[in-house]
Amino acid sequence: MTKLSISERIINMKVSATLGMAQAAQKLKDAGVEVKVLSAGEPNFNTPSVISAVAKQSIDAGKVHYTPVRGTKNIISAMQEKFKRDQGVDYDEDQLMCTVGAKSAIMMALDAVANEGDEVIVFAPYWVSYFEQVKLARAVPVVVNCQAQNNFMPSAQELKAAITSKTKAIILNSPNNPSGGVISLEQLTQLADVLKDSSIWLISDEIYEKLLFDGHKHYSPAAINNDMYKRTILISGASKGYAMTGWRVGFVGACKEIISAMNKLQGQQTTCLPEFIQDAAAYALREDEHVRNAIKSMNDAYLERRDVCLERFKTMPQIKVFKPQGAFYIWADYSQVIKQKKLKDDIELGVKLLEEAHVAMVPGTPFGGPGSLRMSIASSMNDINQAIDHIEKWINS
Ligand code: PMP
Ligand code: GLU
Repeated sequence: MTKLSISERIINMKVSATLGMAQAAQKLKDAGVEVKVLSAGEPNFNTPSVISAVAKQSIDAGKVHYTPVRGTKNIISAMQEKFKRDQGVDYDEDQLMCTVGAKSAIMMALDAVANEGDEVIVFAPYWVSYFEQVKLARAVPVVVNCQAQNNFMPSAQELKAAITSKTKAIILNSPNNPSGGVISLEQLTQLADVLKDSSIWLISDEIYEKLLFDGHKHYSPAAINNDMYKRTILISGASKGYAMTGWRVGFVGACKEIISAMNKLQGQQTTCLPEFIQDAAAYALREDEHVRNAIKSMNDAYLERRDVCLERFKTMPQIKVFKPQGAFYIWADYSQVIKQKKLKDDIELGVKLLEEAHVAMVPGTPFGGPGSLRMSIASSMNDINQAIDHIEKWINS
C-alpha cells in the first residue's frame, strides 16, 4: 500500500508559538503546578454583558442559520459606520465583509493577492502567524528588522531597501503585537510616499486600534490618501477591544476586487459567521454608551498594569523594556539574562522560566525578535505582580 502522508507545506509549518506556550502552561497547570500565564494575548475580562445579551436574544429569535458569506445587512452597515467613525474611511457595502476572526481575514487577504513565489514584507518584531501565513499562501516572507527608536515601526528607507520586483504586499500592524509600538502620522505618510504608484498591497492589521496609551492616536493607512485607500486591505476585529476572542469576529474593508476574492475564499472555506454572533458584533461596533464605558474601563486597567510593569522592571536593569504605546504586551530584551544564566537563547529562557519560575511568556524568536520575550498584560494585576516576583527571584537565584 502506498504510504499515507501529510503535505510538505503543513509538515514545514510551525505551530503557533503564542497558542503553543498557552498549551504548555496549561499542561503544567493540569499537573497541579501554579503557573502565572502571561503568554496568549487574550483579555482576562468577560465580553461586556450588553453585547452577550444581544447574541442571546438573537438565538432565541431563531437567528441560527447561514447568512450571506460577507455578512448580514446589519453587520455590514455597522462596519460602514465603524470604519467611518474610527478610521475616517468610507466604504460601500460591497467593500466590506466579516470573517472568522482577524486571523482568517489575514490568511484570506494573502491568498487573495499572492502568487507562488511573490514576496510579502513583514516588519520584525511581527505577530507570529504572519510568517507562517505568508508561506501557507505560497509566498515568500521578507523580514525587515525595525528599531526601538522608531517605535519598532519601519522607516521609509528600510521599506524601500526591502522592495523588489517580486514584492506583492506588506503587512503593517499598529498598535503592534508584540512590541506595543504605534505608528505616527509622520511615519505613515513617509511609508505612503514609498508605496505611491507601486503595485504593492498593504495589509493593515488594526486589531489593537482601541488599545492606546498616553494620548497616542491610531491612524489607518487607508485614510492617508486615495492611493493608500485603494491599496490598503484594512483588517480589524472584535477580539481585543471588545474582549471577544472566543466569538471569532474579524472585519475587513478594502476595494471591491479584494472583497470579492476573499468572499469567494470564505464561501469555500468557512461560509460565514453565525448570525447571532454577527448581531452581537454589530451591536459592539456601534459602540453605545455601555460599550464605550466597558472599553474605557478595560483600557484603564491595561494602562495601570503597564505602568506597574514599567516601574517594577526598573529595578531589573538586565532587562531592557520597551515602553508600549498601545496593545497589551511588554516586549523586553533579555539578552543579558540569557548571557548571565549561560543559556542558548530566548527559547531556552522561556522554557526555564516556565519550568523553574512557573511563568509563561512567549519567546521572541517566533516574533522575529531573538533575545526578547513577550509578556501579556491582559492578565490580572495580581498575576502580573506575582509573575514579576517569580522572574526577579529566578534571575537572582
Ligand atoms: N492580529 C494580531 C496582531 C493579533 O495579535 C491577533 C491575535 N489574536 C490577531 C490578528 C487575530 O485575532 P483574532 O483572530 O482573534 O481576531
Ligand atoms: N493574538 C494573540 C497572541 O498573540 C492570541 C493568540 C494568537 O492567536 O496568536 O497571543
